[in-house]
Amino acid sequence: MNPNQLDTSERPFVLIWELTQACALACKHCRADAQPNRHPDELTTAEGKAFLDDVREFGEGQLLVLSGGDPLAREDVFEFVEYGTDIGLRMTMTPSGTSSLSESAVAELQDRGLRRMAVSIDAGSAAAHDAFRGETGSFEQTVEAARIASSVGLPLQVNTTVCAQTVDELPAVRDLVSELGAVLWSVFFLVPVGRGAVLDPISPNEAERVMRWLVDVNSTVDFGIKTTEAPHYRRVSLQRTRDAGLDGPAPDGIGRRTGITAGDGFAFVSHTGEVYPSGFLPRSAGNVRRDSIVDVYRDADLFRSLRDKDQLTGKCGACEFRHVCGGSRSRAFAHTGDPLASDPLCAYVPAGYDGPLPE
Ligand code: SF4
Repeated sequence: MNPNQLDTSERPFVLIWELTQACALACKHCRADAQPNRHPDELTTAEGKAFLDDVREFGEGQLLVLSGGDPLAREDVFEFVEYGTDIGLRMTMTPSGTSSLSESAVAELQDRGLRRMAVSIDAGSAAAHDAFRGETGSFEQTVEAARIASSVGLPLQVNTTVCAQTVDELPAVRDLVSELGAVLWSVFFLVPVGRGAVLDPISPNEAERVMRWLVDVNSTVDFGIKTTEAPHYRRVSLQRTRDAGLDGPAPDGIGRRTGITAGDGFAFVSHTGEVYPSGFLPRSAGNVRRDSIVDVYRDADLFRSLRDKDQLTGKCGACEFRHVCGGSRSRAFAHTGDPLASDPLCAYVPAGYDGPLPE
């Protein structure tokens, strides 16, 4: 799928399915408030396959990310990878850094058709990563799984959470991402939901500094860089491009020229089938047990309003970058209860704007 040709009012670029909230880890900042045991009302294997059939209605090659919790906490995860692959989906996964992520598990996932594996690395050393996650041994297991993925030729993505506790680790993580041979570094700017509410976000000015640094890093490394819940990276990148006297919107590290935000190129299905614009914006627009995911994504009022950047309010609504950026709708929702409000992490103030600034 060419990301530049994707009509995000028709299909998401990324669709996440939270297979389960069960996970052997209890990371301090878990969005899912992961639990040790599986929830009794999770989608069953048959319901999961019916959901995958629905997802296929988006079209050939729809990207689906199996997430959690730990997707490997479900024994039918291999079946889902194979089934999705057989019907024409691009199946990827974000497993947790636990002992279940063994060499044989990685090899079997690849055999069944997995196209990419994403692991979470939040610091450049075991001491810092494990302290942040609250789990001794997590770093070692995660890095080992990443090395296995690279060694068997399974494309690797590294996800990193940026907050006050991790921001100084970013240069070390960049080096590790490079050493591991990852194809993409996804840098997630903390949204205070779930257990993540106990962490401290960085300030808007610090976020601006990090994004400028990421733009610089992007031009020197051979892996892609994308931000999650920080689309103003695209604004920063565009400003840099213009400052350099170049024309046109700057593509990000994976070649996209259009922004992907909650409900606009992005959707999330919970372990019980609720359809959210994002895992960090837990407002349900339907349930895949009774509704078609395609109909909810295309037609639900919540999703339609999130795609209409002219409905944004406050600073984001007045911003000339709202169509390439649009701000994190999840962070706006977390802070105000209104998903169309301004993103409080952005330091940019549009010229002539004299309305209220986010707290
Ligand atoms: S004000 Fe809003 S739309 Fe404009 S760059 Fe900042 S986050 Fe993006």
